[in-house]
Amino acid sequence: MRFLELFYIYNTITVNQAIAALRDLLSQPQRIIITMHRDPDADALGSSLGWALFLRRQGHQVTVISPTDYPANLRWLPGIETVLVYEEGAASRKICQQHIANATLICCLDFSALSRLKDLGKVVQEASATKLLVDHHLEPEQFADLMVWDTKAAATAQLIYKVIKELDPSLFQDERDIPIAECLYAGIMTDTGSFRHASTTPEVHLAVADMMRTGFEINRVHRLIYDSSPLSRLQLLGHVLSKIHVLPEYRTSYMTLTAADLELYSSSVGDTDGLVNYGLQVEGVVMTALFVERKGEVKISFRSAGDFSVRDLAHAHFNGGGHRNASGGRTSLSLAETIQRFLAVLPDYQEQLDSVL
Ligand code: 5GP
Ligand code: MN
Repeated sequence: MRFLELFYIYNTITVNQAIAALRDLLSQPQRIIITMHRDPDADALGSSLGWALFLRRQGHQVTVISPTDYPANLRWLPGIETVLVYEEGAASRKICQQHIANATLICCLDFSALSRLKDLGKVVQEASATKLLVDHHLEPEQFADLMVWDTKAAATAQLIYKVIKELDPSLFQDERDIPIAECLYAGIMTDTGSFRHASTTPEVHLAVADMMRTGFEINRVHRLIYDSSPLSRLQLLGHVLSKIHVLPEYRTSYMTLTAADLELYSSSVGDTDGLVNYGLQVEGVVMTALFVERKGEVKISFRSAGDFSVRDLAHAHFNGGGHRNASGGRTSLSLAETIQRFLAVLPDYQEQLDSVL
């Protein structure tokens, strides 16, 4: 019988029950894999590295695997040098597969569908290890044995904070825990849009206040993440903003980046993260999209204000998902065809867009 099978009751298991089961499991040394969604952002990587630092200190053997490369502005995260990148090459794939085959616990952080692991998804799916999901996205696929899943959590890093404080209430009392605090703060800060999205609850500020007891420098984390852009990235921003489309009748704006634009501004992974948010700054706009043509597909990011769900739109028309106010998807259509599809579905949403306060 698989360990923790008793807890294998989807959507009825509470976060606290999952943590109790995890406490049992972690009372013995485990061989642990931590993985997160492709093109990881600060929440995916920060929560993974914070969790890894905590688990290593408890005596577990931990390997962190990213499905793809990660953005340059996250290369300072404590422990990042230990991260294996699955798709880096054949040798890397083999090492990762061996680690996964030997693992006793696989932790899946900040995603809820195995397709978000790209090729790594199948390897994780077929592994015999106990699987733990820690996530705040809507509608998780049912592949995990154990779920710390809360769609109201502002960030996966917020959930990891909760888990590790339950497992060790004495954390964050002094500078020894600065590396964990920096990792988790990076995730919470970015997923809340620097503490301004509606997801910023009292619990978010209380978690941050608690972690600040270590004495880590908040300003340093902000600067490393937000104020460390290569000049070319800012020029890319200037370019994309200069040709923003606004559709007042739908209270919508959208921006596009072609493969040629990306090449012209030597854009690398992560450079387009966050650009989409500018589209929502236009007066009157309550929904925005960014279409990026990359590697033979179009990656789309959606953002919205109020109760308009871009998650539903991404899910219904663009093979995507996410959260109510921040979602994404992708198509294998051309850029022009993808935009046509977007424009064609807008009338269906006009009434909802009109009624956003
Ligand atoms: P971003 O626009 O920052 O890439 O993504 C915003 C959010 O949308 C992510 O946090 C994630 O929840 C969701 N998301 C982005 N791309 C995809 C996708 O291809 N599939 C699904 N299911 N969700 C996505
Ligand atoms: Mn997240």
